[in-house]
Amino acid sequence: MPASDRNRRLTQFLDLLRGARRFLLTGHENPDGDCIGAQVALFHLLRALGKEVQIGNPDPLGRAYDFLLRHTPIGHLRGDDPLPAVDAVVLLDCCQLSRLGPLGRRIATSGAKIAVIDHHVGSESGDGDVAYVDPGAAATGALVRRLFRECSVPLSEPAAEGVFLSLVADTGWFRYSNADHEVFTMAAELVAAGVDGSVLFDRLYRRNHPDCAGLLGTALLRHSLRCDGRLAIACLDRDYMERAARADFDTDAVLDPLRSLDGVEVVALLKERFDGSVKVSLRARGDLDVQAVAATWGGGGHRKAAGATVRLALGDAERAVVAEVQRALGTAEATRP
Ligand code: AMP
Ligand code: MN
Ligand code: MN
Repeated sequence: MPASDRNRRLTQFLDLLRGARRFLLTGHENPDGDCIGAQVALFHLLRALGKEVQIGNPDPLGRAYDFLLRHTPIGHLRGDDPLPAVDAVVLLDCCQLSRLGPLGRRIATSGAKIAVIDHHVGSESGDGDVAYVDPGAAATGALVRRLFRECSVPLSEPAAEGVFLSLVADTGWFRYSNADHEVFTMAAELVAAGVDGSVLFDRLYRRNHPDCAGLLGTALLRHSLRCDGRLAIACLDRDYMERAARADFDTDAVLDPLRSLDGVEVVALLKERFDGSVKVSLRARGDLDVQAVAATWGGGGHRKAAGATVRLALGDAERAVVAEVQRALGTAEATRP
């Protein structure tokens, strides 16, 4: 996008932030660390600007994130809850109301202005009346950090914690290729603003329910290697997902051990949802563009991390994913990482 268009879009976005008085911040289903961290930071930015702000997500906050509640109220809007009366709804870490399930349909008909802050491929053409997007940004929280500067508001400690959570969530604690100069520069500022990374790490990952070790082991035992060892795939059925939900187990923990296997270029995690659909998560190590693979089913994301919802039975979804990855690997150069 040309710089002049970018500036015009930013001006429109800031005009909406300044003009509206009451805000609802929301994001995609099953909000992750980037989505929640960005919401927390934006909550404090808008409060510093004198606005009325509330956060309402389409799903409840995972237990791992409950420590954020000490500084920031983070709510959940159920399918039949009335929408709060607001002037603007801000979608964070996604750009389409369809990513919010039933809540998205109610927002669409509410008459509120919609603002998008996002970093996904294609976010330039999402559902926002105004949008502040950059697919080159490592995390949505990094965009909110930039907005603090645009508004000349200093970072408070709770906001810094939110941005830091966003950065670590989407860069795998600074390990992925999106951990760029901006990420490390911001991280240094956030530490200066009072964030303690090791305390945050313990809060996020070291308070797991005792069943989580067994759940991780079971999920890993269910993986298989396909496409000549280039795809590692694990399928978690509804029964497993019920047990995982009871222990608040974050199934993303399964991705990394599978990604670590020599020769594996793509990891696919398939989870059977309670409505019978299958959530597909794809991660790439080599050059394969998994965003393009996820787009086959109307999903999206980034080149190296993407997702989709597939309306097939679990076994059929598995066959479809193997076939699609096989096809993508066949057309891509062999890229042994
Ligand atoms: P996940 O596998 O759910 O952790 O998602 C990986 C990346 O893909 C994240 O950036 C998600 O926001 C994005 N993503 C997941 N599911 C979808 C979807 N159905 N449509 C668009 N983007 C998605
Ligand atoms: Mn996300
Ligand atoms: Mn993100």
